[in-house]
Amino acid sequence: MATGLSHDQVAEILRDLTSEKVLIRRQIDTLLACPRCRNVSTVLKLKCTNCGETSLRTGTVIEHIPCGYVDFSEKFYDEDRLRCPKCRKTMKALGVDYRKPGSYYRCQSCGEVTPVPARIAHCERCGKAYDLDELDEIEVYAYQLNPEKRGELDKLFLDLDDIASRLMEKNLFANSSVRVKGKSGEEHLFSLIIRDPDPSENDPTFVDIFTSDKLIDETRVLYFYTKCLDMESANNMFVAVPGLLPLAGALARSYKINIVETSRFEEIADKIFQAIKKFIEKETERSMSHGEEQLQITPK
Ligand SMILES: [Zn+2]
Ligand SMILES: [Zn+2]
Ligand SMILES: [Zn+2]
Repeated sequence: MATGLSHDQVAEILRDLTSEKVLIRRQIDTLLACPRCRNVSTVLKLKCTNCGETSLRTGTVIEHIPCGYVDFSEKFYDEDRLRCPKCRKTMKALGVDYRKPGSYYRCQSCGEVTPVPARIAHCERCGKAYDLDELDEIEVYAYQLNPEKRGELDKLFLDLDDIASRLMEKNLFANSSVRVKGKSGEEHLFSLIIRDPDPSENDPTFVDIFTSDKLIDETRVLYFYTKCLDMESANNMFVAVPGLLPLAGALARSYKINIVETSRFEEIADKIFQAIKKFIEKETERSMSHGEEQLQITPK
């Protein structure tokens, strides 16, 4: 992950997002890591418990019971007989004077024979070897976006205050994340409420910005429309990031909702401004033509 953040910083961010329930985490692994450098790719090696060397051979062994000598079985073969390489006695029968205890390991350095050699983990990064119980245990988690927090997460990345201040720079009054009471008495949250600086000119424009990873469907438009109805507002704008599905677009147009579609967060403020300018002009034209009508009426 090329984030430019350190491992610890990423871990801290993930921890925070998990405690805020934005991410859901699930443990998927426990890895053993070098206690010094946290490398999880240590190499396992067998080690002689006697001298500590790591070159061991494995094979089936024979134990000569009278003298206790243990070695690989081929060392006992002497033509068609078995003879102990240590005490040179011929061996009679399996289970009587010798036995085959199974697979053993023999140290190539000191000759020690053992059924269970030690296992060590060698870290190639720091060049040191550790006993397995010295290794650190690292819990590995998989992270998943909490679907219930999707909306909040979008707001996290979408800076409504920044959009509002950019609109202010263009001489529009904009408030972000506004809660207002509708005629039903219910409170509604709008992403933005925008007003023209001249209060006599225009009613406020109610704006919702909805972001998704795919085109937005009509349920969002309907929900926005019901809020606008309750506000009895004439100027409504739905900003869809990245855009609306065709049916949602048709629905929005039939409800006379101004639609702004963009796939880029940084374009939102400009696009809202352009759209508002357009219908401010329309409003002005309408009131002007209305004025002309009145003028025509007056002489009567
Ligand atoms: Zn290491
Ligand atoms: Zn050894
Ligand atoms: Zn022997």
